[in-house]
Amino acid sequence: MTAHPELPDVLDVYHALERMHEWRGWHWWPDADPFEVCVGCILVQNTMWTNVERAIERLKAADALTPGAMAVLPPEALEDLVRPSGQYRQKAKKLRAFLDLCSRHGGFEALMALEASELRTVLLGCWGIGPESADAMVLYASRQPAVVIDAYTMRLFGRLDIGPVGSAEYRTWQAWKEEVLASEPRSPGEDRDLKARYHALIVMHCKHLCLKNRPKCEECELLPRCPYGQEMQG
Ligand code: SF4
Repeated sequence: MTAHPELPDVLDVYHALERMHEWRGWHWWPDADPFEVCVGCILVQNTMWTNVERAIERLKAADALTPGAMAVLPPEALEDLVRPSGQYRQKAKKLRAFLDLCSRHGGFEALMALEASELRTVLLGCWGIGPESADAMVLYASRQPAVVIDAYTMRLFGRLDIGPVGSAEYRTWQAWKEEVLASEPRSPGEDRDLKARYHALIVMHCKHLCLKNRPKCEECELLPRCPYGQEMQG
């Protein structure tokens, strides 16, 4: 297989991110509880992760962070527990829709055991689960390879002028990154680990250095190759 012309760039960025952020922990990697990951994927929509952490702590304290325990909670009790994550009525409804999906597929474990592309399709058919949540669940909960795209991914690669810069389409960015990473042979486990680690590193980089406003370019190893950062310094 011929390497994609952008593969060296994409791997260079990965290694630079690893050097800058390897010491930071990330909530979904390497060994988070799969059901907690799925709940987090739903609760994090339109809010900050710190708010999700508070909701997860409340669910844990109420012994409600398992599919069985959550399924028997009265709707108002679930709403109250997830209140810190914002839009709590809607999010409780989304969690119940996800639990319904699990029961229709023989339970949470059986659902997560589906092959990646089938699981993605099934998840996308569930109310309240979009492409980013579905791919994050495939990658971090069912632990199969998936490329997760988010606003951080588009910000970082857009600033570095790598990839389909200018597009805001999830599928366009995902297809590009899938194609680039697929141009080098890897075992399924290595592929999964690279994708999981890469997405985590992008999130950490954009939260700590490549900020939306006033990025800390002087602390960033990518500055010599970053047109946006060079312009900011200029
Ligand atoms: S140099 Fe600045 S803009 Fe470029 S990737 Fe680093 S932090 Fe982001």
